[in-house]
Amino acid sequence: MRRCESIRVLGGIVAGSRLCRFIVVAIAALALLPIEVSDAGWLPDIFKSSSRHAGPPKRVKSARPARSARRNASPRPHRTRLAALGPAVLPRSALKPASSACDPSTYRVVLDVGHTAESEGAISARNVAEYSFNLRLAKLIAEKLKAEGFAETRLLLTAGKARPSLFKRVAKANDLSADLFLSIHHDSVPDKLLEDWEFEGKKSHYSDRFSGYSVFVSRDNPDFKTSLSFAELIGKELKAEGLHYAEQYTQPIMGRYQHPLLNKETGVYDYDELIVLRKTRMPAVLLEAGSIINRGEELEMDSPERQNMISSGVATAVKEFCDPRWAILGPL
Ligand SMILES: [Zn+2]
Repeated sequence: MRRCESIRVLGGIVAGSRLCRFIVVAIAALALLPIEVSDAGWLPDIFKSSSRHAGPPKRVKSARPARSARRNASPRPHRTRLAALGPAVLPRSALKPASSACDPSTYRVVLDVGHTAESEGAISARNVAEYSFNLRLAKLIAEKLKAEGFAETRLLLTAGKARPSLFKRVAKANDLSADLFLSIHHDSVPDKLLEDWEFEGKKSHYSDRFSGYSVFVSRDNPDFKTSLSFAELIGKELKAEGLHYAEQYTQPIMGRYQHPLLNKETGVYDYDELIVLRKTRMPAVLLEAGSIINRGEELEMDSPERQNMISSGVATAVKEFCDPRWAILGPL
């Protein structure tokens, strides 16, 4: 309050905490700068399709279908992030103000539940299917987003065999004219790293070698830069929750699952071939929320505390993505 008393706006003296806060927010919003693209989990081959290129990042605009008048009323959010995340790498073109915020009530986030009931993905160290982890976490994220006013949030459940389901979920997200696509998964390791143990009298597999979340984007997505911006917000928020990202994807031991790390602070990797990231016509990100083949992390991923941490982090990232001002001072 005292600091604002000396700020003159249009010849008047600013007084009152609300107006003061608005000004601070407006000034702070100008500090939000576009992200710089540089170069960057283990996922089964069924998620991959051949990459069309290996060149520099695209700047192609999304070829989305015409939207209804209602949805046209909701501007697409910015391609920005906090300058504090990496001012040293910001391009000169970054010196421009952030674009306007989206309208949460019309902004459609599609939460893709990874895998299907028929093809359940990875199996945890304690023989629980990844699909059940994905479904539970995606539901929690959806609940939190709706509670935050993102009424158009959709949970995307897909049936059938693995590979056809990938194209089905992409088609559904495109049909929904989603503004943002987030695929929810839980991680494992390549088979060669699995070790044997017995759980509840059954021969089982585990690997305690790696742990952590990871976030993937594809340069083949028609809006790669925006995808990367959202991915970095997710990584930033999960890090702020005290979580760490999975670092093994940079290691040669991962073989064909080795991927370039785009941001060593936030744990965002480049995985161009992922169908759900490259075929969707909106910004798209895939989150491996944590490793369920790691015996300790599986227990954590099964706990309400960890699920709350991750879902809250993702919901906060969506809010920041929608309105960069939120990241600075919280809800206005
Ligand atoms: Zn998966």
